[in-house]
Amino acid sequence: MKILVVGTGAREHALVRRLSKDSSSHDLHAAPGNPGMAEHATLHDVALGDGPALTRLACDLGIELVVIGPEAPLVAGLADEMRADGLTVFGPSKAAAKLEGSKDFAKRVMNDAGIPTARSITVTDPAALETAIDQLNPGGKVPYVVKADGLAAGKGVVVTASRDEALEHARACLTSTADDAGVVLEEFLDGPELSVFCVSDGERVLPLVPAQDFKRAFKGDEGPNTGGMGAYSPLPWLDEAAAMRASVEKIAEPLVRAMRERGTPFIGLLFCGLAATRDGLKVIEFNVRFGDPETLVVLERLESDLGALLHAAATGNLTQVAAPTWHEESAVAVVLASEGYPLAAHTGREITGLDSVEQEGCAVIHAGTKRDADGTLLSSGGRVLSVVAREDTLENARVRAQSAIAHVLLDGSHYRTDIAERAAHGEIE
Ligand code: ATP
Repeated sequence: MKILVVGTGAREHALVRRLSKDSSSHDLHAAPGNPGMAEHATLHDVALGDGPALTRLACDLGIELVVIGPEAPLVAGLADEMRADGLTVFGPSKAAAKLEGSKDFAKRVMNDAGIPTARSITVTDPAALETAIDQLNPGGKVPYVVKADGLAAGKGVVVTASRDEALEHARACLTSTADDAGVVLEEFLDGPELSVFCVSDGERVLPLVPAQDFKRAFKGDEGPNTGGMGAYSPLPWLDEAAAMRASVEKIAEPLVRAMRERGTPFIGLLFCGLAATRDGLKVIEFNVRFGDPETLVVLERLESDLGALLHAAATGNLTQVAAPTWHEESAVAVVLASEGYPLAAHTGREITGLDSVEQEGCAVIHAGTKRDADGTLLSSGGRVLSVVAREDTLENARVRAQSAIAHVLLDGSHYRTDIAERAAHGEIE
């Protein structure tokens, strides 16, 4: 199959790499791509924000399946634009991508469909903030949760024990929100978090295996929030099959049904960010695309073909493919970040040592890398690359990933040494 993957990050590199391992061979293309993807795909230097040029590229190449990686082009309507030109696209329409683009919209759909999630109040009037915040968290016994309504690249959410800080963030959201949608105040959900990805063709749903990611910058969940510093799968503290079943029956299927009934079917990857609470799984958030870095470990465990699965979803034929099959082994991904990330990343520095990572049997997945005119590999972003290990046990995968990532040389870079450690040692994460 002739496939175009749109995006530049680790998620898209992992997709291209996994597609290259399918039992049927594909002609793989990426736009704009990254140096890691060049090993498996032809790269096309077309900007992510240039919908008409991406559409033209896919048409000119005779692409049979477009996979759109990041949320921004989906929320901007790239899938609609491409479908209007007759392309087959894995990724939701602009209307369906609003599930990620507006937290208030996602809450309304969930509440209408009876999907378990944190109680919430959306506030648009600053004068109503204090009453609402106290109504959701009387006496401040648990942390306050305050969310900007729109996309904020991980910076829109504050979870804090301080009522003052919560109010300050809420007021800041209200003054900076362009579309006056407001700020979403939520009940605090207590329990470990997990991500379950579900593939949908607009009608049916197939779940992928759960994973957990690590959002904080430093060891021991210290430091500021990031795009994600590592991930692992499976989760030894979770009944995987039961969690997948519950995610489909109680969350993804009702959601997909609700979106279809609204006339905005969801075709693509529904990312369910969940909390495993005492009352069962509850939705923290929906995203409308593969998650990064969870995708790295989920695809590392995928045994059956990826291309056929995504094509079946994109063409409304999910009943024609069998449920995905999985490797029994465990996968761990550790992200290497630039000095200063996530506050102010120093980039443009040389990266060496990647051959040694591969000699250890681990994969290197690129995110913020580029080649200069001489072909030297340089850092070009906050999250630079990830090392992914797959081993018989979670502990072995974790240790292997740590040993391999130590070979990567990049001045000032940092990575977490405790990814999957507590889970591998039998403690609930
Ligand atoms: P952004 O919109 O800024 O990109 P995001 O989409 O990643 O952020 P969420 O996933 O909704 O935002 O929240 C980020 C993190 O905050 C979650 O992973 C979780 O750790 C915490 N969080 C969010 N909502 C709740 C909640 N109701 N209870 C407890 N923790 C929460």
